[in-house]
Amino acid sequence: MPRPILATVDRAAIRHNIQHLRERSGARVWAVLKANAYGHGIERAYEGLRAADGFALLDLDEAQRVRDLGWRGPVLLLEGVFEPRDLELVSRLGLWHTVHCDEQIEMLAAHKTDQPQRVFLKLNSGMNRLGFAPHRYRSAYARLDALAQVDDITHMTHFSDSDGPRGIAHQMATFETAVEGLPGERSVSNSGATLRHAQAPAVRGDWVRPGIAVYGSSPDFPEHSAAHWGLLPTLTLSCEVLAVQSLQPGDTVGYGSTYTAQVAHRIGIVACGYADGYPRHAPGANPTADAPRTPVVVAGVRTHTVGRVSMDMICVDLSPLDAQGVAVGPGSAVVMFGASDAGSLPIDEVAHAAGTVSYELMCALAARVPTVAVG
Ligand SMILES: *Cc1c(COP(=O)(O)O)cnc(C)c1O
Repeated sequence: MPRPILATVDRAAIRHNIQHLRERSGARVWAVLKANAYGHGIERAYEGLRAADGFALLDLDEAQRVRDLGWRGPVLLLEGVFEPRDLELVSRLGLWHTVHCDEQIEMLAAHKTDQPQRVFLKLNSGMNRLGFAPHRYRSAYARLDALAQVDDITHMTHFSDSDGPRGIAHQMATFETAVEGLPGERSVSNSGATLRHAQAPAVRGDWVRPGIAVYGSSPDFPEHSAAHWGLLPTLTLSCEVLAVQSLQPGDTVGYGSTYTAQVAHRIGIVACGYADGYPRHAPGANPTADAPRTPVVVAGVRTHTVGRVSMDMICVDLSPLDAQGVAVGPGSAVVMFGASDAGSLPIDEVAHAAGTVSYELMCALAARVPTVAVG
């Protein structure tokens, strides 16, 4: 028997989330599927992802994979090409690509093709990662527009604070000034902007680019939950109890003895560790007054981890189950995050307790975890 741990990708939930984002924004939806569809697996998730109007991704390899799956619709390279020969594959696969620097314009100018390409011209409106500075944007547009290799130019930028108090107004103002009067479609919104700000037509644009919301997680947790935004969980990590231990007061748990039982109680040992992608920093020490605990659902009852996360195992407090008289033993179902018949626990709550974000938990799902797709 394989080790009792399983990841489940819910394609129907992905489909729901994409349709919901399209209805909410009123724009066409690029489902962002970089990092192998945020850890879900492009091939596994594809039947759900197909509900999108296009796929935005980073690697040419990922673009090839969605074409191999039969996708004939738009595919956008979010960072554009990295070297001149990438443009051959761009032409062959009919990809749209981002242009964020002069070198990419030069590569295009030197590229021989009889199929003019669709490009997304990226403005650095304040994130300061990729894109043309505002004062250089219009000359980059003019250069691109003059190339026979270019068919159509969409204006694009990316927000640093769509999910937080600083907001997007300052970057929107920079964007509006830079693109004023230029023809072309627009794409500015990630998940946070799509959910929080896309009532404004300028923010909605022609295309939104949600990633994390497609995968059923809230971009602005804990301010808002995924349920608040009408999103369904798409990734579930479940496992089983391997053993039960009875602790006496003073007994410690796991490496470094970071947890000490204050009273006699039972713990369960579950088949999930950091080598499966569970965050090693998820707190499990004896809680101080307001220290977070890491939630987990065992036999349908919410409890928390105790002690350090180790490579292959985590320990969980069984006191809430024992208090309710819920039977538990080897083989009892455990939900680390997600939703299943065995219970539900938003991934955002686990990520938050561990001091990270759901993006990282999704991308961390380890190759050794068997994965199935449903829906
Ligand atoms: C990753 C990415 C997105 C999606 O971001 P989410 O926060 O996951 O919605 C959108 N646009 C660009 C350029 C990205 O790199």
